[in-house]
Amino acid sequence: MRSITKLDLQYAHRFYGFNGEAQYLHGHTGVLTIEVEDSVEPGVNMVFPCNEIQKTAWNVLKNFDHALILREDDPLLPAVLKVYEEQGILNGHPQNTMKGDAFRTDLATAYPDCRLVVTKETMTVEGMIKIVYDLLKDRLNIAKLTFTSGVNAASREYVPQGSRERCPLCGIALDESGVCPKCGYKKS
Ligand SMILES: [Zn+2]
Ligand SMILES: [Zn+2]
Repeated sequence: MRSITKLDLQYAHRFYGFNGEAQYLHGHTGVLTIEVEDSVEPGVNMVFPCNEIQKTAWNVLKNFDHALILREDDPLLPAVLKVYEEQGILNGHPQNTMKGDAFRTDLATAYPDCRLVVTKETMTVEGMIKIVYDLLKDRLNIAKLTFTSGVNAASREYVPQGSRERCPLCGIALDESGVCPKCGYKKS
């Protein structure tokens, strides 16, 4: 069965080199739907608690929220970095509190200190699905991702990677030693 959760990401981007209005900097509220597949854990009668899926995903994905997303070859990138540098906000500001865990994959690098994500490919809805899967595939048994942004939407199905042992009391994945990181339950 599947547990399904949604989260919103508000971001600014543009399609550099695209022949259309999207080549101008603009903003969106994107909605990401994550479907996690596994057996139903009998203790809690859930596949996985949806708020825990959200927490796991949000730790990484909040880097995209209220962020500027630019392709690595976009000339706006050095221009923006220069302005941030001159303003002294390139390496953070005390009021920048929305920082997620910094990450670097083949497809994207997050610079949480200046609320910037640099992507290898244009950040279309399709591009976002590739980036998100890459970031979350080792943390969640993803069966499907859907990303919508304005009138654009894309989705992709995946073969979930096996089954995870979960806590019969709170439903979250047990660590390598069979202990629940939330309530301390230990598998006997
Ligand atoms: Zn757009
Ligand atoms: Zn537990």
